[in-house]
Amino acid sequence: MSLSIANLTRRFDQTEVLRGIDLDIRQGELVALLGPSGSGKTTLLRIIAGLDWPDAGSLTVGGQDWLRKTAQERRTGFVFQHYALFPHMKVRDNIAFGLTVLPRRDRPSSPEIAEKVRELLHFLQIDTLADRYPTELSGGQRQRVALGRALAISPQLLLLDEPFGALDAQVRRDLRRWLRGVHEASQTTTIFVTHDQEEAFELADRVVVMGAGRIEQIGHPDEIYDHPASDFVARFVGLTV
Ligand code: ADP
Repeated sequence: MSLSIANLTRRFDQTEVLRGIDLDIRQGELVALLGPSGSGKTTLLRIIAGLDWPDAGSLTVGGQDWLRKTAQERRTGFVFQHYALFPHMKVRDNIAFGLTVLPRRDRPSSPEIAEKVRELLHFLQIDTLADRYPTELSGGQRQRVALGRALAISPQLLLLDEPFGALDAQVRRDLRRWLRGVHEASQTTTIFVTHDQEEAFELADRVVVMGAGRIEQIGHPDEIYDHPASDFVARFVGLTV
């Protein structure tokens, strides 16, 4: 789905955490929200997911007013840095979970769920993990499963908050390549939060650079690298000014 945000603001007590965010994302894009810690990235993602609410502004997805919808009605898929898979459930049951709790009219039958899970395990190249428990997986494998769980419900938007943040450099690189492939095949509109500029630049179709509650620049990675809009952006993407 396409997403459109206009003049969105959010304050906690005296602090303005989002100071008028305008952002349009096209169907099928992979966009990175890049910025230092405390710049408002997670707050923006939580508002899109329906886990938090803005003080003002609008948020539409696929032309619908999402601020009138509950988190469940929005049907977003999430992956967090420390995304807790259910420890007592096998990988296949973790992936099936989102489908089993859909409202009755949207819920597939048990054989349909089993088939969908089989397809996803194959698509994500984690077939061999199906009958393992989360404690038997590496960190990188867990995040692949977490993505499977998020994708199982055919989400309208996929929201990823520092999903590889706790992993070591080589695993992160492998997962980036893997995620890029999964994205190209699924074409799910995806918003990826990171404070790692290398990750943002390698993964994203467009990068949204945030600083102190504002968007400093939006553009294709090359555009931002070649033409940073401000000293803040230049410094943040590692250019000397
Ligand atoms: P980022 O994801 O870029 O690190 P966040 O959106 O997590 O930034 O936080 C932005 C600012 O909002 C931070 O200063 C943080 O302390 C503050 N903040 C976030 N959530 C809350 C909350 N529930 N109550 C008070 N302050 C909050």
